[in-house]
Amino acid sequence: MQVRRRIDVCGIVQGVGFRPYIYRLATERQLSGNVSNTPSGVTIEIQGPAQAVDDFVSCLPRQAPPLARITDVTVRDLPCNGDREFRILASQRGEAVHTLISPDIAVCDDCLREMLDPTDRRHRYPFINCTNCGPRFTIVRDIPYDRPHTSMAVFPMCPACQAEYEDPLNRRFHAQPNACWDCGPQLELWDKNGTRVASRDPIADTATVLRAGHVVAVKGLGGFHLAVDATNAAAVALLRERKRRVEKPFAIMAPNLETVQRLCEVDDAARQALRSIQRPVVLLQRKASSPIAGEVAPSNRDLGVFLPYTPLHYLLFAEGNFLALVMTSGNLSEEPIAIDNQEALARLSGLADHFLVHNRDILLRCDDSVVRVVSGRPRQMRRSRGYVPVPVFLKEEIPQILGVGGELKNTISVSDGDRVFLSQHIGDLENLESYKFFEQTVAHLQRILEISPAIVAYDLHPDYFSTKWALQQTGVELMGVQHHHAHIASCMGENGIAGPVIGFALDGTGYGTDGQVWGGEVLIADYDKFERAAHFEYVPMPGGSAAIREPWRMAVSYLAHHFGEAFREMKLPFVQQLDRKKVDLLLRITDRGVNSPLTSSCGRLFDAVAALAGIRQEVNYEAQAAIELEMAMERSDGNGSYPMQLLTDGDCWRIGTKPLFEALVDDIERGISVSAISRQFHNGLVNIFVHIADLLRQRSSLNRVCLSGGTFHNAYLLTNLRSRLEGEGFEVFTHSEVPAGDGGLSLGQVLVAAHRLRQR
Ligand code: ZN
Ligand code: ZN
Ligand code: FE
Repeated sequence: MQVRRRIDVCGIVQGVGFRPYIYRLATERQLSGNVSNTPSGVTIEIQGPAQAVDDFVSCLPRQAPPLARITDVTVRDLPCNGDREFRILASQRGEAVHTLISPDIAVCDDCLREMLDPTDRRHRYPFINCTNCGPRFTIVRDIPYDRPHTSMAVFPMCPACQAEYEDPLNRRFHAQPNACWDCGPQLELWDKNGTRVASRDPIADTATVLRAGHVVAVKGLGGFHLAVDATNAAAVALLRERKRRVEKPFAIMAPNLETVQRLCEVDDAARQALRSIQRPVVLLQRKASSPIAGEVAPSNRDLGVFLPYTPLHYLLFAEGNFLALVMTSGNLSEEPIAIDNQEALARLSGLADHFLVHNRDILLRCDDSVVRVVSGRPRQMRRSRGYVPVPVFLKEEIPQILGVGGELKNTISVSDGDRVFLSQHIGDLENLESYKFFEQTVAHLQRILEISPAIVAYDLHPDYFSTKWALQQTGVELMGVQHHHAHIASCMGENGIAGPVIGFALDGTGYGTDGQVWGGEVLIADYDKFERAAHFEYVPMPGGSAAIREPWRMAVSYLAHHFGEAFREMKLPFVQQLDRKKVDLLLRITDRGVNSPLTSSCGRLFDAVAALAGIRQEVNYEAQAAIELEMAMERSDGNGSYPMQLLTDGDCWRIGTKPLFEALVDDIERGISVSAISRQFHNGLVNIFVHIADLLRQRSSLNRVCLSGGTFHNAYLLTNLRSRLEGEGFEVFTHSEVPAGDGGLSLGQVLVAAHRLRQR
């Protein structure tokens, strides 16, 4: 029996090779009909024997191209007509406007095979790509997403490439960056002055200088990398010195999964993350036997590892036979990554000995993404290349809103209907270059998505550059959103749940509604409002931001807070090693309240414990002390925990830390290992939070808990708090696709603003 059906497919189904895919699916089954792009997705009319049509419908979502993301499929019956063949119909007007641009993704296996085939016309071509792979987001200037609007515009296709591009059955049909040796971008090797090196094979010559221990700036997908041989300690040390990066770990690229498994512990989830088309940097515990130079990640148990993702990377490894290369972003300390050839030369000439460049422009900067696998799921720590601009899909429709994010690890978000588009990692806005990048990203994202929000949501911190920017905007409605409220809303939104919830928002810093520095907050939160239910008791942060860079200040502050001046007589190595004059000064400013805001920050509590335990007194990068305290834990330290107490002298409880510090000081005096101290501290946090959740459930009958904030990048805390809460019967929601830290803040801001509007 002949049937005819109409199938509407919604989601990301345009510009990802979906129509050719449907064409193949239909013609393989000898079905007739047509497929066309529509403003909301793709519409298919399909006709043939009922069984074949059913088979077509059931296969459709399962075999979709890698970049497609189907959110909805509806099927309706139509009367049969005289169709004899299957056709791809010309696009309807207005279609391109709604075509979502895909992220940049790793070169696919088909392209790799061709690249390594000596008989293929693209043998060893470093810019090979197809509909399923290659650059996208970073080469787009404007919409519609078409070659003239990309940085490929300057490369007219040769007849062979053009024929592929126009053939609906070719895997390069409408692949905008399609190119070959004859018509596409080319590589050049430059010396550090920007003079082109006469080279017959720039890749082979790059491999040679890397083997000799030189630093090479390599132009990638979303920016330049600085590369050195990761097994060469002197080369890595040289790079550290030039980059002025004291201890913050470098990411390394290894040629294949087998090599990664030699270097690090890799479980199934990590394997999948490493091999995924997004190719993020994955944090993995290194093996003791790993020959990677210690300078790559000093005093760090983990290595950040990723696999090659551009054809160029594969060629470089094939040529140089490296075990691993350091591939760190091409910048000086915290500046944004360099993207333009001349810009790279100007900014990186003191850092790199050579430049491996090409003439395909990177129009939009996009750093490597970073994930950590916790409890079997990859957790975004920095969501950037490979993921952006794939939206977070909501279970509701909201107006167009711009969320400008926080200050550090900034991202922005714009919403449209049931989608929120999180930008790539922008960085720390206190840096002028990053701030310019922020402004550029706000404009660019609105342009390519054709969104012009009339509402701007921002953090309450008056000194954040994102806040100042928001307050300068005219003709828009402004909505300030409390930092930790935004964290919890972000977690709710990612998980598509309705409130209210019990929210644990733990991080380093966030501006509180009382003007103090919040950061260890338990909220009863819904999207539109929140109530502060509990927080760590306040202690002074001596010297303000200096206390973030120097954890010893927080340790002194806690000791003085709980024990008064008497702490100076304690027989602790920490106390005895303190500089008396510095302590005098510090106590004077905290007494007078000079530049010493009060804080309930969980991050600062980690800092204080780390400093007291002797782990470190000063940090070289954000959260270093907390990270090292977590890593100090060995596997077998029992289940002891430090006590804390709930002080309930009002509606909002305070978590008292005096018992914790008494026990901690005791343990240090008794010479208990740092590992055991760390474990008892972590367990103490888990205990008090579970206790608070229980009490709040009794009071409010809420059973849903959201965990958000940068502290939840801590794998031990996330895993143990989650499993304990689940053991108590709570429904626990955590982050995975959206960073738990401030990189996820802008999503929460947008959602809070959307719901507040609705309340009017
Ligand atoms: Zn490909
Ligand atoms: Zn060509
Ligand atoms: Fe935060």
